[in-house]
Amino acid sequence: MNQLIRCKDCDEIFMKTPFDQHPEYPFDPGRSFETFRTIEADDYQEFLIHHQGHQLEDLEIIEDSFVSEKAYFEPIKTSFFKATNGKEKFVIKKFRKKINEPLKYLLIRGDYSLKCTAIKVQSGEVSKQLKRELNPPPSQNRIDAFLKLCQTITEDIEVKDLERIPEESHRPLEIYYKMDDIHLMYLLRNCRNIFKGQEYSAMEEFIHRHKDDGVLLLKATYKIQLSERVKPDKKFIPTSLPLKEARIMEKK
Ligand SMILES: [Zn+2]
Repeated sequence: MNQLIRCKDCDEIFMKTPFDQHPEYPFDPGRSFETFRTIEADDYQEFLIHHQGHQLEDLEIIEDSFVSEKAYFEPIKTSFFKATNGKEKFVIKKFRKKINEPLKYLLIRGDYSLKCTAIKVQSGEVSKQLKRELNPPPSQNRIDAFLKLCQTITEDIEVKDLERIPEESHRPLEIYYKMDDIHLMYLLRNCRNIFKGQEYSAMEEFIHRHKDDGVLLLKATYKIQLSERVKPDKKFIPTSLPLKEARIMEKK
């Protein structure tokens, strides 16, 4: 079980988990499970020694709060999640700069939200699929005109009005949405200016085939927007050293 510990005096964090700390260990039969535990325990001991005499508290990780700028399987990335001590909420930044480095955790006072930065038509995929499915395929000019029309319509759309598609995305900050009915109607109507007769009917079918889970889904890109709170004034902390350290100093 993971345990997230915060030093209230230093605002430092320790994630107590045997595997997060050293996930890159290649399997080595000579190294038993005990070794993992020892290394983890050593790190924890170090944390405890460093924060001796300080007030420690457990934080509870807030479920489903995890966000990351890169794919989940990428080993080098920065992620964020939220945690609480029951009274106050914190943002925990989890990161690693090199593959062989242990994960680091940083406490941030504040919050984050996801901000939509762009909604785009999947132009490349739409174009490829049109050429594959329509026989004969529309001319490149008409395909380009269709893509331009889709993009123009998309510029008028707000992400909050769209229905999200619960699709597995490798990139956590890319989310797919269905075009709403009003904009879809507008798209179909304007297609009449580009395609005629048989080709228009084929396009109409294409749009209906791809609007709910196909290439006509709109791709929204998000960014993580972090807002930091100013740390409240600390209570008076005596400047003298804790007793044990003071004694060591005396002996020198
Ligand atoms: Zn401390």
